[in-house]
Amino acid sequence: MFEAFEVIRDAEMSQYTTLKLGGKADYLAFPRNGEEIAAMFREAGEAGMPVTVIGHGSNLLVLDGGIRGLVIRVEKNMREVRVVGNRIVAQAGAMLGSVALAAAEAGLSGLEFASGIPGTVGGGVMMNAGAYGGEMSDVVIRVKGVYPNGGPVSLTREEMEFGYRTSVVKKLNFVVTEVVFELERGDPEKIREKMSRLNAERAEKQPLDVPSAGSTFKRPEGYFAAALIDQCGLKGYSIGDAMVSQKHAGFLVNLGTSSADYLELVRKVQSIVESRAGVKLEPEIRIVGEEEAEG
Ligand SMILES: Cc1cc2nc3c(=O)[nH]c(=O)nc-3n(C[C@H](O)[C@H](O)[C@H](O)COP(=O)(O)OP(=O)(O)OC[C@H]3O[C@@H](n4cnc5c(N)ncnc54)[C@H](O)[C@@H]3O)c2cc1C
Repeated sequence: MFEAFEVIRDAEMSQYTTLKLGGKADYLAFPRNGEEIAAMFREAGEAGMPVTVIGHGSNLLVLDGGIRGLVIRVEKNMREVRVVGNRIVAQAGAMLGSVALAAAEAGLSGLEFASGIPGTVGGGVMMNAGAYGGEMSDVVIRVKGVYPNGGPVSLTREEMEFGYRTSVVKKLNFVVTEVVFELERGDPEKIREKMSRLNAERAEKQPLDVPSAGSTFKRPEGYFAAALIDQCGLKGYSIGDAMVSQKHAGFLVNLGTSSADYLELVRKVQSIVESRAGVKLEPEIRIVGEEEAEG
């Protein structure tokens, strides 16, 4: 199967997620362009196989039983970034950090906020990733992609229905292949300075030395997830080796655990915060795959 493409059979998903968790994917494919993505969907469809699309895996919890069917990883083979005037055209697999660097080199401001977000352009657009007062919707002007049936899609910023950590990508169910950013002219030195300042702040506040998927929960209306978790006395709380980070309570980290323990920790934190603070926390991370079969 999938002989025309770069594919790994029985791929350990713990190697393809920043949380370093998860069982095996039956097939893990690395497309080079939208045509290959369409062809992969076609072949999987003919075999009656489900398809899951991922980027860098920095917002993903893959369960211990792994992922059946085909996983399409839009990442290492789709990283082209072009600067055209004050616009940047990036393939969906380009890392946000490298697009932000390309912008800085070209003297284009607006993507500084994204330089420390360890995900792809495609995942960033899907999630409307944001930090330090900026988000993808501020700078994205067009998103191109492909539907599972192979049809093309091209949407303006308005048509993307960006909201807090969400966009129309999930509803329309397409794969992002290319994104156009529109930025402002700026002084390259100042842009670089801002990026290093934000990244230093990140390193000071976030547990970047242990596997995580960033903030585990969305910001509940009127609150901060990390502050609520901290107020409930949960810093350092653990199940197995899944732990609420001591450094930043919004990050649930993996110190050598299983996805089952990690998921239990997510649920436990949700239930404690709901009973003690009366606020329902919703996961920001995407949970994919199957729980491990019993026995
Ligand atoms: C240390 C750390 C810090 C972080 N800081 C931030 C932060 O400041 N702000 C923030 O918003 N996030 C942050 N994150 C979370 C994460 O980096 C972002 O959500 C990122 O945008 C996810 O991109 P990804 O390529 O890793 O996507 P993945 O995690 O692989 O996928 C996320 C979702 O996007 C979908 N997807 C991925 N690629 C595509 C595509 N090409 N087409 C269609 N759908 C696609 C997947 O199906 C999945 O539903 C952080 C994570 C870590 C580990």
